[in-house]
Amino acid sequence: MRPLAEIRCFLLDLDGTVYLGDRLIPGAREFIDALRRLGRRYCFLTNNSSRSKAAYVDKLTRLGIAVEPGQVMTSGEATALYLKARQPGARIFLLGTEDLAREFVQHGFALVDKAGQPDWVVLGFDTTLTYQKLWDACDLIRQGVGYIATHPDFNCPLPGGRYMPDAGAIIAFIEASTGHRPKVIGKPNAEIIEAALALTQTPPGYSAMVGDRLYTDVAMARRAGLVSVLVLSGETRAEDLAGTPDRPDYVFPSVRELGLALERESRGEQGGEKCAGNGSGK
Ligand SMILES: [Mg+2]
Repeated sequence: MRPLAEIRCFLLDLDGTVYLGDRLIPGAREFIDALRRLGRRYCFLTNNSSRSKAAYVDKLTRLGIAVEPGQVMTSGEATALYLKARQPGARIFLLGTEDLAREFVQHGFALVDKAGQPDWVVLGFDTTLTYQKLWDACDLIRQGVGYIATHPDFNCPLPGGRYMPDAGAIIAFIEASTGHRPKVIGKPNAEIIEAALALTQTPPGYSAMVGDRLYTDVAMARRAGLVSVLVLSGETRAEDLAGTPDRPDYVFPSVRELGLALERESRGEQGGEKCAGNGSGK
């Protein structure tokens, strides 16, 4: 396993890793400051395709985290980059918000309606969805138009234990009508990691994915050949590590301890808290 001190780039999950809802995880600011001090690259990844990069830059800045637009990758942008590499300037029928529409226009795509002979149906977290849009999308997909979705989450968690139906629920509606499922770009698929690594220009073996979920963040890191770091500040408890097929390379209580270990190792001291034995994550 690659020592922490050799990792040049950190891809960071947001909710459960950097913040919980609107509260910063204690030590997250110091962790980001340590990355900057040590000259490490970092990029925040989010599956939420209903909001723009600018919205995340605003939120992180408000929480005191140093970030520029080039350090945020949404599943919406990753989808636009994926299509741009395959069919630049394609005609897109979009199920998505104004923010997502702007993202696609910025990447040179033409947004068209059903009559505009779209090359692709792109499905995002569309909080402006109408029955007519769903119907048109089903017609197009049934006719064989390419079909791609930004991310697979069924629900978007809200503070107070509430949920908003998310892109995965819209995918399920369309599948019920047409029998078709889309190509999906966001976590836990590796395409969003590939888009982020292209942005940070770091090879996967020298990059780490840091997140709070075994079955998305850790599974995706392993699949894409990145070092995987689990933090226990969000969804996963230490006891969940027993028997998981998605074993992380490193486990820390939160990014605070990851930052401290990185600083220690970068000074040439020992003390990386590797994930040793079965379920003994520290
Ligand atoms: Mg998370």
